[in-house]
Amino acid sequence: MAKVTKIIFLTDGLQNLILLNLNNNHLMQLPQEVSRLKSLTYMSINYNQLVSIPRELCFLKNLVELQLNYNQLICIPEEIKFLKKLQKFLLARNNIGVLPEELCDLKKLRILDIAGNIIQIFPSGFQDLKLREFYCEGNPLFLQQPVISTQRENVWSLQEITSRFVMNQLAENNPFLMDGIEQYPQVRSMISQGKTCAICGQHFITVWLDCVRFVSPPKDWKISKNLQLVPLRVLICSYKCFTQRDPNLFGIAQVQNR
Ligand SMILES: [Zn+2]
Repeated sequence: MAKVTKIIFLTDGLQNLILLNLNNNHLMQLPQEVSRLKSLTYMSINYNQLVSIPRELCFLKNLVELQLNYNQLICIPEEIKFLKKLQKFLLARNNIGVLPEELCDLKKLRILDIAGNIIQIFPSGFQDLKLREFYCEGNPLFLQQPVISTQRENVWSLQEITSRFVMNQLAENNPFLMDGIEQYPQVRSMISQGKTCAICGQHFITVWLDCVRFVSPPKDWKISKNLQLVPLRVLICSYKCFTQRDPNLFGIAQVQNR
């Protein structure tokens, strides 16, 4: 049987399509025109070679089910948050390393399968998803196995020091900087990437400490047997804050397998 390697949506008669099944082909990408499938509710592209989910797909606001098992995906776009009706999201056997925080905005999501990826940690807020089924076996999830580790010095670039100063002043409504920032769209877009310290609430851009908090999976989730504790990502601005953390927060250590 011939397999499809490329797909082009030529006609405009597709607005009424509800279900699209492209399983078992050789698709490496989807065309932007996928956004024309306004009524699409069920989409299945298992067993292909997709390396990315096009942003345009995230604007199919009627999509309830999206199956992308057995592809080559390495990430999920943050625009995934626009799939407000998505209930079933299957991503087993890809190469996904990081789940975006925006995944936690999918309030209708009930079934999530990320088995067989390379995920180590989940975005904060993940435990608040109202999942009924969650499959995550075959991922190198962080384990709660504390080891003693030495702290290195904080080394910040001048850009980081300046950005931190600007962001924290803006957070305090410094009128001089609020006016000044209007003139510099580049700076604005840079600081819009800013993240917030879970301990002190101050902002940072390029340097932080990746930490992990382990929480029990919610009781109403039906989960893979391997998941005792859900590792959640927590970002901290400096070792100064790290030393003030509560005992349930851990730094992340690289441990050699012996
Ligand atoms: Zn801090």
